[in-house]
Amino acid sequence: NAVIGIVGGGQLGRMSAMAAARLGFRTHILTQEANGPAAQVAHAVTLGAYEDHTALEAFARAVDVVTFEFENISADALDCLAQHCPVHPSGAILRISQDRLAEKTFLSSAEIPLAPWHAVTDHASLHAAAEALGFPFILKTTRNGYDGKGQARVYEAAQLEEAFASLAPHPLVAEGMVDFACELSVMVVRGTDGTTRCFAPGLNHHRDGILDLTLAPAPVPQETAQQAQALAITIAEKLDLVGILGVEMFLDRSGALLVNEMAPRPHNSGHWTMDACPADQFEMHIRAVAGLPLPPAIRHSDAVMKNLVGPDDMALWPQILATPGLLPHLYGKEEARDGRKMGHVNILFPCGSLPGALGIQDALGPLATRAEEEQEEDCA
Ligand code: ATP
Ligand code: MG
Ligand code: MG
Repeated sequence: NAVIGIVGGGQLGRMSAMAAARLGFRTHILTQEANGPAAQVAHAVTLGAYEDHTALEAFARAVDVVTFEFENISADALDCLAQHCPVHPSGAILRISQDRLAEKTFLSSAEIPLAPWHAVTDHASLHAAAEALGFPFILKTTRNGYDGKGQARVYEAAQLEEAFASLAPHPLVAEGMVDFACELSVMVVRGTDGTTRCFAPGLNHHRDGILDLTLAPAPVPQETAQQAQALAITIAEKLDLVGILGVEMFLDRSGALLVNEMAPRPHNSGHWTMDACPADQFEMHIRAVAGLPLPPAIRHSDAVMKNLVGPDDMALWPQILATPGLLPHLYGKEEARDGRKMGHVNILFPCGSLPGALGIQDALGPLATRAEEEQEEDCA
C-alpha cells in the first residue's frame, strides 16, 4: 500500500494520518517532535532541522507523495523533497501563503476582494500607509504570525513608531481595519484532475485571538455563502492547487466579503466536517494529494465546533466525556499550556436546525461560556 508523507507533527498531521489510514494508506511523519500528536499515530521520522537535505531526501524516497500540515517550514525544503517525489500543495503555493505580502499581491492580482493594504518597509512607507488607511489600522508581520500574534493595532499617530518597532522582522503589512459583521471561512479542495469541492462556509468566533467556535453552516444569506465558496474556488484554481485550502474572510456590514488570509492545509475552522460530513476535510485532503476521486463536500448534519484550549478547558475533560452529544477529539499533547490547542468537540444538529447563541451555549454543557463574557453578533 502507498505511503503518504506529511511534513509536520502537529494535530493537523495526526488527523490527516488517521484519515489516510482509513483509506488504506500508511503515513510517514517528518517532524522535530518524536512524540508529538502526529508521531503518536503514524511512523515518525525525526530530524534536527528541516534544512537537513540528506534527511529530506531519505524521507522523500520512502514515500509516494508528500504533503505538509504547517506552513512555517521553508519552501526550499519542499523543493528539495519535490526532487524525489510529488509534493502537494506545491512549494510555490507555500511560498505565497507563508508571506502576507506575497499572499496579498497574489490575491489582488486574482481580483479577490481584500481590505486595503500597504507594504510597510520603513518609516516613510509606515507614515504613508497611515495616511492612506486612516486610524485605526492593523500592522502585521509578513511571516510566522498565528493566533493573532505578530500584529499590532494602531489607533493614533502617536503609536505608529512603537507599533512598527514592536513587530519584527520587517517588512510589515498595514491593513485597513474592517468593521466586520462576522468572520467566515471556507474549506476548498482541488484534485489532480482539477475537480474542486467546497464545504459550506463556517462562521468563526475567536477568543483571545484564538479560534473558539465554528458554526456550520454559517448563518448568512445563501447568496453570501455561494459568493464565499466562489471566491475560494477561484483562489484554488488560480493557485493550481492540489490538496485542501482554508480561506478566511470577513463579511462587512454592507454584506460584502473581503478575504483575510488563506492556508494551504486542513484548517481548525474545518474540524466540524469530521463529524458532520461523509468525507471530512482530512479525507478530502488525502484523496486530493493521493490522486483519488473527490466525493461531494456534502454534510449530513449542521455542526458547532468548540476548541479545547489550555488548562481551563482541559480541566473540564471528565465532564466533557460524560456529556451526551459532545463528540470529543483529543490531540495527545502532554502539557496543557495557556493558549495551546489541546483538542476540540463537535456537536451535531439536524440540517437546518442550528440553534441561536443561547441554544448553542445550552448544547455546550460544561463548555458553555460564562454569560458575562458573551458578546453575540448576529450575521443573518
Ligand atoms: P490565524 O491563527 O487565523 O492564522 P493570524 O495570526 O494569521 O491568525 P489574522 O487571521 O490575520 O491573523 O488575524 C487574526 C484576527 O484578527 C482575525 O481573525 C480578525 O478577528 C482580526 N483581524 C485581522 N485583520 C483584521 C482587519 N483587517 N480588520 C479587522 N479585524 C482583523
Ligand atoms: Mg494566519
Ligand atoms: Mg487568521
